[in-house]
Amino acid sequence: MRILFMSDLLTFYEEDLKRSLFELGLPAFTFSDVVAEKVDEVEFIIYSPVQASDGTTIERDFSSYKNLRAVLSLYAGVEYLTKNPTLNCPVVKMVDEGLTSGMVEWCVAHTLRIHLGIDRHILGQDGTWRKNIKPLLARYRKVGILGLGSLGQPTASALNLLGFEVHGWSRSEKDLDNISCYHGDDGLKKILAMSEILIILLPLTKETFHIINFKTLSYMPKSASIINAGRGGLINDKALLESLKAGHLAHATLDVFNEEPLPATHPYWLNPKVTVTPHIAADTVVETSSRSIAKNIQLIIQGDTPLGLVDTVRGY
Ligand code: NDP
Repeated sequence: MRILFMSDLLTFYEEDLKRSLFELGLPAFTFSDVVAEKVDEVEFIIYSPVQASDGTTIERDFSSYKNLRAVLSLYAGVEYLTKNPTLNCPVVKMVDEGLTSGMVEWCVAHTLRIHLGIDRHILGQDGTWRKNIKPLLARYRKVGILGLGSLGQPTASALNLLGFEVHGWSRSEKDLDNISCYHGDDGLKKILAMSEILIILLPLTKETFHIINFKTLSYMPKSASIINAGRGGLINDKALLESLKAGHLAHATLDVFNEEPLPATHPYWLNPKVTVTPHIAADTVVETSSRSIAKNIQLIIQGDTPLGLVDTVRGY
């Protein structure tokens, strides 16, 4: 069995991956992308997008790998793979407890920051005793989450455990403990209308592109805040900036952008109502994700469905 590591992260992963494969009884060769020989022996490709020097993502040609059984993404976002016309095998996205923990922690931290108004005290160390700025209990705060998948659901549960009134929206109908679930266009309108804090954990697909736009922003309550950890393309930047300027939205915390790295001249950097974080909400954790990849290879070899199998037509 040959596994091709089509990524520039091999030095970080090689040891953990080999160990994880070995622990499952799957001794395997990993070798780097530059090796062009023996393409017919490659059964699995472990993939992450690699950027060219001009910042664009290198489009890979998978057509020479005739015996591929799956491409396993190191990331949860797979828009680079689902759009690739040369790919004719199953795509598996990263579902991993390390990645999930990271996202839950990041979303909870930024929700609490907004909910408690923490900035007003941290930035107000000027000798003024602001006793009137008091935190509200979480139970009085409505949080909406767009996307109830492997990252959205645990985030919803964690916020619910803290007491928040949590509402969630997904493509298919769901029934989750203590979370009010919505779906479809009507559901989107309803959840936006009640979300004081809106967390976006959707994948970027044809359907979700610019889902946050002039119209959908107008459904949100005045002074609401947005936290986007999904993808930059989910938001129409112009609409968001105008909503912030008009005072309709109070704040946006953005981890992902239409262009990454976010150009130094982008208006988001200078806007006091925007917090920019550099796509660090949840990083793939080498140790745990190596185990997840090895487990998925084992499942595929056994003829079972891997965790995180992508529906390439839906795009996620
Ligand atoms: P999943 O595929 O597990 O879940 C996606 C969720 O979005 C599902 O609930 C799905 O609905 C919902 N959804 C998809 N399309 C639509 C639609 N058209 N209308 C309504 N709901 C929709 O993804 P993950 O939770 O694993 O990851 C979500 C995204 O987070 C990734 O795609 C990636 O872009 C981003 N991400 C960002 C990171 C960061 O560091 N900022 C790190 C990791 C991921 P249903 O349940 O009905 O299928």
